[in-house]
Amino acid sequence: MQDTIRALRALQELDTDIYRLKAELKRLPEERAKRRKELDQQIARCESQQKHARELRTKVKEIEDQTSKERQRIRKLETEAASSRGDVALLAAFQHEIKTLKRDISGAEEQGLELVGQAELAETDAKNQRAAIDEAEKVFAEFLGNVERETKEAQTKLERLLAERRQRMAKDLAPESLALYERLLAAREGVALALLDGRICQACFMEVPTNLYVRVARAAQLTQCPSCDRILFQDLG
Ligand SMILES: [Zn+2]
Repeated sequence: MQDTIRALRALQELDTDIYRLKAELKRLPEERAKRRKELDQQIARCESQQKHARELRTKVKEIEDQTSKERQRIRKLETEAASSRGDVALLAAFQHEIKTLKRDISGAEEQGLELVGQAELAETDAKNQRAAIDEAEKVFAEFLGNVERETKEAQTKLERLLAERRQRMAKDLAPESLALYERLLAAREGVALALLDGRICQACFMEVPTNLYVRVARAAQLTQCPSCDRILFQDLG
């Protein structure tokens, strides 16, 4: 049984690397997607700010058009007032309307100035956001290159390890031992074996009963940890 344990330990060493590479190959695209999503959200925020700035500018334009019309109206009223000689009531009516229009214009201009200020702030903010995005896109492009390179490297290594694994599995191991090992490997995230140090399982850190300790020491059969199920072995140095 010592041979089986030795073979399993060699297999576990390979499988630890294989699991690590598989995790890496899963993590890389996940991180790529996460980073892309963050960048897209940043772009969406910038576009929304640009839209807000455009809307403010449109409002400013509307106010300008409106006050421009009101000024034309004032000039027309002033001309009419000048030619309404003697008609006091008519003159008073003209003057009243002119006064009202001037008040409107003054209020609208104030509002317009306020909106121009807001638009300028929004435009500056959008511009800064855009610059940050351009910078982030550069970093992302570099990151993509790294991901591609790391993925290729991991895939090459993985293929090599899997080939080595197939070779090793073919010899030294009885099918039941291998089946048990593989089942535990899948159930325990890539760690099917556990070192028994004294009476403590080094995977789950539970103490095993003495009879079990003796069984592991004798190595006449595969012995599993009663707590985490892993196949126990002793380091014989
Ligand atoms: Zn255990």
